[in-house]
Amino acid sequence: MIEDCFCGRGDDLENREPVLDRDGEQALRCCGCGHLDYLRWLPNSVRLLILAEADELSSGPGPHAERAERRTV
Ligand SMILES: [Zn+2]
Repeated sequence: MIEDCFCGRGDDLENREPVLDRDGEQALRCCGCGHLDYLRWLPNSVRLLILAEADELSSGPGPHAERAERRTV
């Protein structure tokens, strides 16, 4: 899902940096301007899905990459 930030940067939401704000609420930070997007305009189920996906992408190689690595060793 590509969404334009108000700074003009158009990015996959999943590629933005997942962060927790001071209240412990999850948001995605724009790599360009640092703006936090709480995705409040999304249905909650979609919102949680995107936050989870962004979290997975930011935590480095997932289980799939690990499996591929083992196969080549
Ligand atoms: Zn931005």
